[in-house]
Amino acid sequence: MSYRVEIDRDVCISSGRCVADRPDLFRFDDEELAEPVPGATLPADAALLDLARTCPSGALRLFDGEVEIDAG
Ligand code: SF4
Repeated sequence: MSYRVEIDRDVCISSGRCVADRPDLFRFDDEELAEPVPGATLPADAALLDLARTCPSGALRLFDGEVEIDAG
C-alpha cells in the first residue's frame, strides 16, 4: 500500500516549502495553510518521505493505512 499524506493545520507554519517544491501536490488555502491539491497523483513512498523531512514544522504527516510513519 502506498503512503497517504495529511497536513496538520495546527502545526503548519506556512513556510511554503512544500508548495514551492511540489506545486503539483500542495497549495495554500484561504488561510495560507498548506493543503493537498485535489486529485493529485502522489509520488513513490520514498519521495513522500523526503518531502515530509523538508517540512520545517513536521506538519506533513504520512500514513501507511492507519499507521503513522515516522519520517525522522
Ligand atoms: S512545508 Fe510544512 S510548514 Fe511549510 S507550508 Fe508545507 S506543510 Fe506548512
